[in-house]
Amino acid sequence: MNKGLLNVDEALERLLAGARPVVETETVPTLSATGRVLAAAQRSTMNVPPMDNSAMDGYAVRVADVRAAGAKLRVSQRIPAGAVPQPLAPGTAARIFTGAPVPTGADAIVMQEHCTVDGDAVLVNTVPVPEEWVRRAGSDIRAGDTILPAGIRLRPQDTGLAASVGIASLSVYRRVRLALFFTGDELVMPGDPLPPGRIYNSNRFTLNGLAQVFGCEIHDYGIVPDSLDATRAMLRRAASECDVIVTSGGVSVGEADFVKPAVEAEGELLMWKIAMKPGRPLAFGRAGGASFIGLPGNPVSSFVTFLIFVRPFLLRTQGIANVQPHALAARADFDWPEPGPRREFLRVKWNARGGLDLYPTQDSAVLMSTAWADGLVDNPPNHPIRAGDTVSFMPYSELYR
Ligand code: AMP
Ligand code: MG
Repeated sequence: MNKGLLNVDEALERLLAGARPVVETETVPTLSATGRVLAAAQRSTMNVPPMDNSAMDGYAVRVADVRAAGAKLRVSQRIPAGAVPQPLAPGTAARIFTGAPVPTGADAIVMQEHCTVDGDAVLVNTVPVPEEWVRRAGSDIRAGDTILPAGIRLRPQDTGLAASVGIASLSVYRRVRLALFFTGDELVMPGDPLPPGRIYNSNRFTLNGLAQVFGCEIHDYGIVPDSLDATRAMLRRAASECDVIVTSGGVSVGEADFVKPAVEAEGELLMWKIAMKPGRPLAFGRAGGASFIGLPGNPVSSFVTFLIFVRPFLLRTQGIANVQPHALAARADFDWPEPGPRREFLRVKWNARGGLDLYPTQDSAVLMSTAWADGLVDNPPNHPIRAGDTVSFMPYSELYR
């Protein structure tokens, strides 16, 4: 039944083998590095925290001075955050605040809720345990530790971590230059009137948005007429300006499908029929010096094939080591009694019971299904699903990383 069809994993493997990671790097301020791909592992040159400090508002004490609950200690100093304390005089307590340095000699903090102020002294109403509420220098990060590996896309907490050890700028790979264009004489841009027989160019918005999610430098050339000359000219321009060219439409075998001959004329092309639904036709090759991926024009197909193929290809081109999305085991609250012979990516949504609901029409022209959904169920060929079954679910949050 699947004669002549390539399976998804094989196609992805071949595609990734053809990805050429960007090698040029640039240095950017840490504050603008979120979303960029880190080019060099980062080490800390300092301890974090840099000094012993208090985890609570309260009193720094020597545990040995608090033999029993109710011990009375003179308050010998006050240590706000940012202060440099004196050593703690024996038999006294220091008023201390969260983040403030713990004075030498103190070995515990008693939280203020367990203390009573008594003039210039404090009554300590519990017996502290040594080290209680003390954060020791270097307990989070030690000088010399690797804090971030190369080849990750930086998240907000990663740039925060770099900043916490004083790193003010980071070496990242330059952005991948991604060309997008859209074939089809039927296409009209929103904002223009829609003549009879025409449709809006929704793929431009979906694919351009995805390119933004993945941090590309986007060269969006818009609609290209269905002609060999126009398609070839577009390819030449895109190839001279970009690393990767992604197109939608024109890769079927219809009379108006000029992408295939145009890429063949400007470079080389492999046409794949892929055993997936939605999807099927995918073109992969090169135009000039740029990689080329031609997606089907069908809105759901181009969206899904972007996530399954273009996403990992772009990630690999950006220098990201781990491109595999993590699927979750989730409960199907629907039946899928008549699976097809191709691997299916079903549009599903979490329900209030923690299971997955299925969009009622899985037709690949129904873009509403993708907007309604929270992600895709990855269903093997010929595999029926019964309500209550565990399925492999790829939430958009995983696919958008
Ligand atoms: P094609 O792959 O060019 O044969 O197109 C397949 C289907 O997708 C046709 O119904 C097209 O009208 C539709 N289509 C192609 N490109 C787009 C686009 N950019 N936006 C929305 N629909 C499209
Ligand atoms: Mg077309």
